[in-house]
Amino acid sequence: MARNRLDTEVQYLPGVGPKRASLLRTELEVSTVGDLLRTYPFRYIDRSSIVRIADVREGNAYVQILAQVVSSEQTGRGAKRLSVLVRDLSGEMELVFFKGIKYTYERLKPGSMFLFFGKPSVFNGKLNMVHPEIDNPPAEGAQSFTGTLTGVYPSTDKLRNGGVTGRVMNKLMAEAIDLAIGDIQETLPDYILREKGLVPLKFAVRNIHFPADQASLSKAQYRLKWEELFLLQLSLLKQKYVRSRAENGIMMHTVGPAFHACFNSLPYELTGAQKRVIKEIRADMRSGHQMNRLLQGDVGSGKTMVAVLSALIAVDNGYQACIMAPTEVLAQQHYANISKYLAPTGVRCELLIGSTTKAERRPIHEGLQDGSVGVIIGTHALIEDDVVFKNLGLAIIDEQHRFGVDQRSRLWSKGASEAPPHVLVMTATPIPRTLAMTLYGDLDVSVIDEMPPGRKPIQTMLIGEGKRPAMYNFIRKEIDSGRQVFIVYPLIFESEKLDYQNLEAGYEEIVRRFPDPDYKVAIVHGQQNSDVKKFNMDAFAAGRADILVSTTVIEVGVDVPNASIMVIENAERFGLAQLHQLRGRVGRGSEKSYCILMHGNKVSKESRKRLELMCATENGFDLAEEDMKMRGPGDLEGTQQSGLPISLNIASLAHDGQLLSDARSYAEYVLSKDPTLSETVNASLAAELRKDKYSVKDYSKIS
Ligand code: ADP
Ligand code: MG
Repeated sequence: MARNRLDTEVQYLPGVGPKRASLLRTELEVSTVGDLLRTYPFRYIDRSSIVRIADVREGNAYVQILAQVVSSEQTGRGAKRLSVLVRDLSGEMELVFFKGIKYTYERLKPGSMFLFFGKPSVFNGKLNMVHPEIDNPPAEGAQSFTGTLTGVYPSTDKLRNGGVTGRVMNKLMAEAIDLAIGDIQETLPDYILREKGLVPLKFAVRNIHFPADQASLSKAQYRLKWEELFLLQLSLLKQKYVRSRAENGIMMHTVGPAFHACFNSLPYELTGAQKRVIKEIRADMRSGHQMNRLLQGDVGSGKTMVAVLSALIAVDNGYQACIMAPTEVLAQQHYANISKYLAPTGVRCELLIGSTTKAERRPIHEGLQDGSVGVIIGTHALIEDDVVFKNLGLAIIDEQHRFGVDQRSRLWSKGASEAPPHVLVMTATPIPRTLAMTLYGDLDVSVIDEMPPGRKPIQTMLIGEGKRPAMYNFIRKEIDSGRQVFIVYPLIFESEKLDYQNLEAGYEEIVRRFPDPDYKVAIVHGQQNSDVKKFNMDAFAAGRADILVSTTVIEVGVDVPNASIMVIENAERFGLAQLHQLRGRVGRGSEKSYCILMHGNKVSKESRKRLELMCATENGFDLAEEDMKMRGPGDLEGTQQSGLPISLNIASLAHDGQLLSDARSYAEYVLSKDPTLSETVNASLAAELRKDKYSVKDYSKIS
């Protein structure tokens, strides 16, 4: 047996054995008693109340009856079914079993009393319960074995078929607690328990599995959630602290001629939010530490200008800057815009993308190497091995979630040798605050929370197939008065054949409805080569096409101010964040704009709710919060790639936002007093953070 009984293999618990142990390992990732005790119920059943049989209704969730066995009968060929008739003073009910027939038959002797606990259902017009749990009735005056609240644990078919039922899980937990509760070590220092009013870990573990009452359960849950979020934030903030000490940053003191030339020729005044964010970035760049900043701003909030002015700070200090976009189309568009802004500065700006020819590349490569190119804009072509910078001082990554982790780290390695480049990550995917704190817990976050003035609201409508003809008429009117229209089809996986059939069919339909030569329709999708894509995109951007039929390739960045309608087909197949991105493609010009969400015939209630929310609000952050509440953080677009630093066991980013903020500020407080966690009072925290799960990849190198 292991020295610390928490390390005991579950297989040595009574009733487990090798087969069930292997099931627990593969299905629940539980190998030791400690793992088992960290598997928490996801809900609780209140077993304190006993219902009269006459009061049981089909709609009841779970009920508990105290009843006497009247008779039992094995039916079906080979006795595949056990039917047990039970009664209390108010009436009778049938209980049905398909498994464990022999055992159950022997246990449920006529005349004996049991507690039966299960979900009532109706069969042949009569109420029954299938596979209720069976307990001995509580002895007079004694506390029942099950307590009042019973934990329900995560389970799978394999587990249930292997005999690890809910009831068995409850039993195993009881055994695990009996065996090992004494070996549980408090993870939080006394002063934290005191200051935050948290219950001790042992109390929490006991009560999360076997709540003495509702109040104890709440205290246990609060303690465990708080601890989980606190340790996560502590680890992220500690890394940030260590990095800001360890990595020296390139000092960029000057705000010089290039910055001013650009700033003075801006056709508009910067918004308050843009000014604030540029100040934050300036402060980072001259701090002597490496900048690692996330810039969040809704579509159209003016991030590009912030990027340009930041790049010019680097240039004014004798360094180069690069701006990396996720697609060629976006990089090209950035290049077109940014070259204009840079014209008054005389700074040389180049574009480097996959389709840049060899002949074009040579002078660009040379310019990067000798430093004459000040700002380079591109795609992942920028991180190819033959791209060498003289002294890269700032790397700006647009639409961050599209890049894989290793791509970002390669960009990092292109820094000037003295110190790594400053890093600014820009994202238009509004992620909920709680998720940002966790995904980017070790980054500084700037938010542009103000739109440039004069934006017209976009009217969003949700319509079904029945209104398609009306929709076409509406589009036709808009086109006839000179506007342009996006029509977007879902394409979740770029290789899904079906989606292309959808897109192709849609395209043909549109061409039929909007025939040449009166109307011009362009099509863009991910399987076209980049020349074709660019040709079609350009046709639309330049106004030669009235309608652009596309997949989500146009999702980010594409700027066509004359486009006033965004039609989204099968809108229910998109996440809210993505719909919001798409909607942001219109409303950029002076005309009133519309977003038309088309839903399929089989749209679920929940999807409809999400789509209605889209119609009701234009605020991307509100939508992101709601999206997360409805779907959970794991489904949020973009988060799969970046991934949560660690998976949460009990707390939820969607529901425990308040707790997370509190845990984060407390983590800041703890680190402000003991940044390296080397004081004796914090020894248990330091020990926790040494555990594998907190040795997260070093985020400083990948963002
Ligand atoms: P984002 O990249 O954040 O989606 P952009 O940087 O593309 O947004 O800006 C959207 C549009 O708003 C651009 O046409 C840009 O010229 C314009 N813009 C940016 N800042 C301002 C401002 N302060 N005042 C007016 N227009 C602005
Ligand atoms: Mg942009």
